[in-house]
Formats: sequence, C-alpha cells, structure tokens
Amino acid sequence: MKSTLAILVDVANGLFAVLLASHIANVDLVWGHVAVAIALAMSPDLDALPELLKRGKVAASNQYAHDHREALHFPVLFLVTGIILLQFDVFWGTMFLVATMLHFVNDLYGTGWGIPLLWPLTNRRFKLLGRRANLLKQILQEKGLWDTLPQDERRLRLVVTWSYDELSEYIQKYGIDDWIDRYYLRINWISGIEYTLFVLAVALTIVFW
Ligand SMILES: [Zn+2]
Repeated sequence: MKSTLAILVDVANGLFAVLLASHIANVDLVWGHVAVAIALAMSPDLDALPELLKRGKVAASNQYAHDHREALHFPVLFLVTGIILLQFDVFWGTMFLVATMLHFVNDLYGTGWGIPLLWPLTNRRFKLLGRRANLLKQILQEKGLWDTLPQDERRLRLVVTWSYDELSEYIQKYGIDDWIDRYYLRINWISGIEYTLFVLAVALTIVFW
C-alpha cells in the first residue's frame, strides 16, 4: 500500500530512538523495544485516526479543509512527558523523547501543514523550508498555480507560518488529495531525505543489533 511510504520516516525515527536509548542506557535491543519505539514515533499522528476512519484517507484539501495536526501535535506536551519519564527510567525516557521529537522535526519540514510549535502560547502553524502555498515548485507548476503566485509567495522561506484562520484558507487553495502520489511516488528533496533516513536507520539497526 503506497500510504506506507509516508510512514517509513517514522519507522526510521523509532529505530534511531531505540538505538540511541539502548546505547545510552546500556540495554540490549529486543524486538519488543523496536516495536514500541516505532509506535512512539508514530504516536503524534494518532490525531489523524478519526479522519482516517471517517474518510478512509488523510488529506487536507478543498474537499476537506481541515488538518489533523491540531489535537496531538503539541511538542511541549511530549517534551514534558519525556523529561518526567527520564527521571524514572533513562532507557524509556530517552526512547520516548527521541522518537517523538524526531517526529515533530520531520513534520516541521516534510509534507503537511507544519505544526503548532509554540502551543499553548499560540496555535499558529510553523513550517521550515517551505512556502505558504504549501507545495513543491514542480507541483505548483503542474497544477498551473505557479504563474498565479505573487513573487514573494514563490520564494522558499526558512520559516513559514499561518494563523489558524489562514490555514484553512490556504488548505482550500493549495491542499492536495493525491499528496502521497505526488510526493512519495517520486524522488524530490522531501521523499529523498525520508527514504535516505529509512535506509540509514535499517542499516544501523542491522550493524548494532
Ligand atoms: Zn505528525
């Protein structure tokens, strides 16, 4: 199933987390730890489950101008939970922190509409290395949107933000339903980084098992 391609990076995040935690805490790697680490790396995306069950897919577009990352994508909650866990158990605390923080790092630059990074101070969305018309240049060109974009919206910015109200407006305009095909069935800088991280994580796991 092609949607699996979009979660390979979380498999990588889980593997990096379990490798680092077992190294720091001097705990032997077992399959159970690997499974929990991968589940932890995916855990912020549990907020996509209601949409997945309701629609059979997860995609913010003009057909469904709603992004799931507003129920669990709050890094501070995971950071505080991880730091508390760390006081009780170095292995599980490290694994939790690394797995979930890597998920948020990926959400900051990869596909999707960024994350409410500074929640609860603001529910503004933040994304790194993107444009507010949240698509790769190639996709904007294919959809005939590139020529309609003002010059300063074409520029790839280090930090992009959307207010809560702007977000649904931009999703209506630039959200795409077939994001898995357009991002993951091709090699672009985002899928390239994610696939490379997956291969690297699997290789390191084999070496250090
Ligand atoms: Zn996510």
